[in-house]
Amino acid sequence: MFFSNQNIFNILFEAIPEGVIIANENQNIIATNLASEQMFGYKKDELINQNLHVIIPKKHQTNHKTHFQNFLKSNTIRKINHNLNLFGIKKNKNEFPVEIGLNPFKIDNKSYIIALIIDITNRKKTAKKIENLNFKLEKIIKEKTAELKNTIKQLKNVNFDLKNQIKKRAEAEIQIKDALKNEQELNELKTKFLSLVSHEFKTPLSGILTSTILLKKYHLSEQQDKRDKHIETITKKVHYLNNILNDFLSIERIESSNVIYKYTTFNLSKAINEVVYNANMLLKSGQKINISSNIDNYVLYQDEKILELILSNLLYNAIKYSLENTTIDLIAHQTSKNTIFKLIDRGIGIPEKDQKFIFNRYFRAENVLNIQGTGIGLNIVKSHLENLGGTISFTSKEHKGSTFIIKLPLIKPL
Ligand code: ADP
Repeated sequence: MFFSNQNIFNILFEAIPEGVIIANENQNIIATNLASEQMFGYKKDELINQNLHVIIPKKHQTNHKTHFQNFLKSNTIRKINHNLNLFGIKKNKNEFPVEIGLNPFKIDNKSYIIALIIDITNRKKTAKKIENLNFKLEKIIKEKTAELKNTIKQLKNVNFDLKNQIKKRAEAEIQIKDALKNEQELNELKTKFLSLVSHEFKTPLSGILTSTILLKKYHLSEQQDKRDKHIETITKKVHYLNNILNDFLSIERIESSNVIYKYTTFNLSKAINEVVYNANMLLKSGQKINISSNIDNYVLYQDEKILELILSNLLYNAIKYSLENTTIDLIAHQTSKNTIFKLIDRGIGIPEKDQKFIFNRYFRAENVLNIQGTGIGLNIVKSHLENLGGTISFTSKEHKGSTFIIKLPLIKPL
């Protein structure tokens, strides 16, 4: 009918790999090619004169008629659209996804539509596979990301532990170094003690020995003066040695933080008299100790023995580093907060360049090197005062004398 050369048309029509279906305006199929018949599972010409509904799933049929009419009227070509979810139905009622391009045309004033149909079952399957693979991939990525996060967290923890270990090791190292330093200092102290014992003890000991030998020689009663002189020498030297030993014991106790201060309430005059009484034995000829007159009024709550040790040290130095016929003042007074002691001598003084080292252990100024001493006393005094919350300071001028000032806080008895 509308084909002038049926043979050529048939050859071309049948050769098209896509399904081709031509329908008239009543939606009746008027021509199909081999591909469309195979696609929908029909034999040759089985679809001819059938309504298009035969190849459209039921659920899509309702709207199809109106769409069809509107499409014929609009007379526009509808290209294949990949995004439309279209389905065809086979003779055996199996649904399958299709893509359809539509082209309306007129012959002899009658309207027709030619439909180009592609079975996209395989493409959809592939797409589904890709979608599944993507889904699996995403899942794997999520799992791997979670694992990675976990690993990073674990690494952070390990890192934190490592840092802690390093910190602990560094602390341990410091402790070991400290212990080593203490050990070295202790060794140094022992060596110092041994060399002091050999040097410092030698002269007084041989002095004591000489005096004892001489003492034996003076057996006549009129030689009492000479005996007294030697007994005094022995007493002084024993006292001196005793002081050195006490200093060493103090150092050891302060070093090992073993000093336990015993606080009691006592009269200041009692402590000062004790100190001065012992110091009197060491006085050089013509030396005098002046004590301030007001000390009877003062009462202290302190470690009496340590206070005596502090004052003795300063007083012995004042005696030792002053010449004969000089006076030493020991002044004490109390304010609302402190008890203040001043020890003033008119002795050899401390050279200015040495003054800043005077509290260092074993330090001795250059002008005293021919006078016996250990360089320990002031160091001990300072340590005790720091422990008791007190302070020590001094002023000194060479050949004029020195003034040492001690401040001890007033403590209320418990
Ligand atoms: P030592 O008297 O046994 O040498 P100290 O620690 O008591 O040790 O004193 C340290 C140093 O301070 C002394 O060697 C001396 O140089 C100096 N010094 C202390 N007191 C006086 C003082 N009153 N006059 C002069 N120098 C002093």
